[in-house]
Parts: sequence; structure tokens; C-alpha cells
Amino acid sequence: MTSTPTSPETAGLLVLGSGPAGVHAATAYVRAGGSGPVVLLSADRDEPYQRPPLSKSVLAGEDAPEPTPVLEDDEDLAAFAQVDLRLGTRVASVDTGSRRVGTDGGGSLSYDRLVVATGASPVELDGVEAGARVFPLRTLEHGKQLVEALGTASSAVVVGSGFIGCEAAASLAGRGVRTTLVTPEPAPQAARLGDWAGERIAAWLRDAGVELRTEREVTAIGAPATVRLDDDSEVAADLVLVAVGVAPSTGLLGSSLTTEDDRVLVEASMQTSDERVWAAGDVAKSQHPVAGRALSVEHWYDAEAMGRTAGRNAAAYGTGAEREEWSEVPGFWSDIGEHTLKYSAWGDGYDHAETVDHGEGAFTVWYADAAGRLVGVLTHERDEDYERGSELMAEGATLAQATGSGSTGSGS
Ligand SMILES: Cc1cc2nc3c(=O)[nH]c(=O)nc-3n(C[C@H](O)[C@H](O)[C@H](O)COP(=O)(O)OP(=O)(O)OC[C@H]3O[C@@H](n4cnc5c(N)ncnc54)[C@H](O)[C@@H]3O)c2cc1C
Repeated sequence: MTSTPTSPETAGLLVLGSGPAGVHAATAYVRAGGSGPVVLLSADRDEPYQRPPLSKSVLAGEDAPEPTPVLEDDEDLAAFAQVDLRLGTRVASVDTGSRRVGTDGGGSLSYDRLVVATGASPVELDGVEAGARVFPLRTLEHGKQLVEALGTASSAVVVGSGFIGCEAAASLAGRGVRTTLVTPEPAPQAARLGDWAGERIAAWLRDAGVELRTEREVTAIGAPATVRLDDDSEVAADLVLVAVGVAPSTGLLGSSLTTEDDRVLVEASMQTSDERVWAAGDVAKSQHPVAGRALSVEHWYDAEAMGRTAGRNAAAYGTGAEREEWSEVPGFWSDIGEHTLKYSAWGDGYDHAETVDHGEGAFTVWYADAAGRLVGVLTHERDEDYERGSELMAEGATLAQATGSGSTGSGS
């Protein structure tokens, strides 16, 4: 194979993955004046697109399953136009010693610097019979397959009550599909957000027409779409959407980089255990200067921010310039039918929760650790608490400061 200007054998920066982390890493590298050609390899076949609409407007039938662009800013778009984007290219191996990656098709490419932004892929359920109409939801391709299947479906089972399961169940019910949500939790997201918030979400889902089967495990799924539960009951439907979480896509890395909880462990600069490799987004577990520990975060805008940090620091590598850090308080919004939840949290649990019911459906749940430090805030129709909660967490404030005088002074 010969090298051409658009097909370099050695990339100045090689980015793996065309999600928000990878696209923003490549863009930020170009904008920061990083040296050498930038190549982005992605297993995705579609132009970079946003995933959040898939479980919301796309599944609800309000938007077609078409790519919604990841970049909007004109300067970002101009920078990304300089990136050699190779879609439909799955990387099978990464050799950090020789600085070379191998692709599924048998090709290989060397790099000077590498950003790993391979995200995560849906966890599959055991016990699914061949031919069963079972769908995951991570990629636009999954969205297209689901929308096509919904053309002839009048009923669905959603397995899993995380944010994606709840959003998807509400969207399906909203488009007139008879929907049952099955979860081992006593209420949707009770483990993550607490019983009180879980009951609120359960009420929203029921109001939207979703039937809830709580505290039930799925034991098997038979063809065409019969979900068997651990109380020996069955729920038969036209299709099953499995949303039981994701696993970081680290298989291609072998043992080349240090990992923790199967994620690539990075400094707040996004640098991995190899000084020429950065990782960002869902695949990374990042040290956080404010939280004071490494965090696993699976949110769109945080993946973008981590990607930008990785790209800029990769561009600055070897120049002696000061490294940037990803230090934002993680957060995201979730649309469950007509209800929007806003959640800002370190994401690794809490010891105490304090709920404030503001009336007319609005609420705030404040979360604290054992020492009383604020570790999260969940709001519905209370944007001021969401904003203030993020600020208080950034300041290391206590639960008492959040719920009491409203003082924003530093916690001790
Ligand atoms: C349906 C849905 C709804 C969501 N809604 C929200 C929301 O409302 N708010 C929110 O904050 N977050 C939401 N998320 C989560 C958010 O989309 C993710 O946190 C975000 O996409 C992570 O970005 P990433 O770049 O790290 O990884 P990804 O977006 O997963 O991108 C990873 C990329 O790597 C590629 N890749 C993987 N393995 C390989 C390989 N071996 N070789 C080459 N390429 C590879 C993939 O093809 C993909 O292009 C949602 C996710 C889904 C699926």
C-alpha cells in the first residue's frame, strides 16, 4: 500500500471512534494546530450523529432515524473537514509499543499520538432464543432497525429501567405501542436516584401508559418475542428492546493500557498510562480534580468536553505547554415522555438523600456522601437548583449548605 496525502501511513493524530469524544478530540487537535495528518477510524457506518434523540424523538416517531450532526460551530466544522474520516472501519488491535493499530480488514496504520474514544456497547441478555425479535439501542443503525420493526408492531417489552429504558418505554407508549417495562428494581432507577425519585418516574411511566413489572428478572426470551420472568410468568409482545446497560469498548486494547473497572484509566488531562495515548468519553475512567477521585461518566456533553481536552493536550504534547484538565461537574438531562429530569452528580453513589417537593410536580433531590458533602442533585422543573447544585459541587459544598441557608461557601 502506498501512502498518499489523504491516506497517510502514519497519522499525526489517530482517533478511534466517531462519537462526541472522538469527533471533538479530532476537531480540537486541528484547531489547536496539532501537527501531522489527523485520521479518525470508526466502526460506525453513518456520518457522526447524536445518540440522545434515538430513545426520545426518533423512537416516539417525531423524527426520522437520520443523522443529527454532532458539530454545529462553523470553526469546528471547518476543522473537522480536514480530518480523514474512515467510517465502517473497526479497529481490532492496538500496539502501543510499535504505535500501530490493526483493523478488522487486515489493514494497519501507525500513529504519532492516539486518542481512544471507542465508547461503550450494549450489554446483551443471556437466554435469547435464535430468531427472537430482540433489539439493542446504541447506534443510529439500531434506531433504523427498531423504527422499521415498529412499522408492524403494536406491543413491546422494554427490559431495563435506566435512563435509556425509561425514555424508550415512554416514547414507545407515546406513539401508541402497548409497552411493558421489566426491571429488577422496586421502581425505575431507584438504585441510582433513590426510592422517592423512582416512584415519581414510575408514576410518569404509568401515566404515559407503560405497564411496569418491577422486582422481576428476565430468565429467557423466546421467539418471536416472549419474555419469561423469574416468577414463571410471561409477557408476549411484538418486539423486545433490551436496555440493561453498556460495557466499555476496550477489547481492542488488549493489556496495552492501564484500566480500572474495564475502563481506560486517565489523568484529568485524559492522558493514559502511555504518554502518547489519550482516552475520552464513556471508555475512560478519569481522575477528577474537584471530586478527588476517578470517575466513570456516560454523558454526551461530558464526552464532548473530555474529547476536547484530549485533543488539545495531544496537540500540545512535546511543546512544553501547560496541560488542560477536564474539571467540569458531570451532568445531563433526560426526557421521559413529557417530563425532563436534570441530574448533576459525580455518579458513584450517595449515602443520604434529601427531597424537596416544590408542589405542582416540581422537585429537587439533593444527594450527599457519608461526610455530608454534596455529591449530586436531581431536579424536575427546578432549573435554578440544577444550576446551583452543580456550582455547589464544584465548590465542595455540603448538603446543609445546599438545603439550608443557601450559602455557597466551601465545605470543610
Ligand atoms: C439512545 C441513547 C440515548 C442517550 N441519551 C443521552 C442523553 O439524553 N444525555 C446524555 O448526556 N447522554 C445520553 N446518552 C449517552 C451518550 O450518547 C454517550 O455518553 C456518548 O455517546 C458517549 O460518547 P463517546 O464518544 O464516549 O462514545 P460513543 O458515542 O459510544 O462513540 C464510540 C465510537 O467508537 C466507535 N468504535 C467502537 N469500537 C470501535 C472499534 N473497535 N474500532 C473503531 N471504532 C470503534 C463506535 O462505532 C462509535 O463511533 C444516550 C445514549 C444512547 C445510546
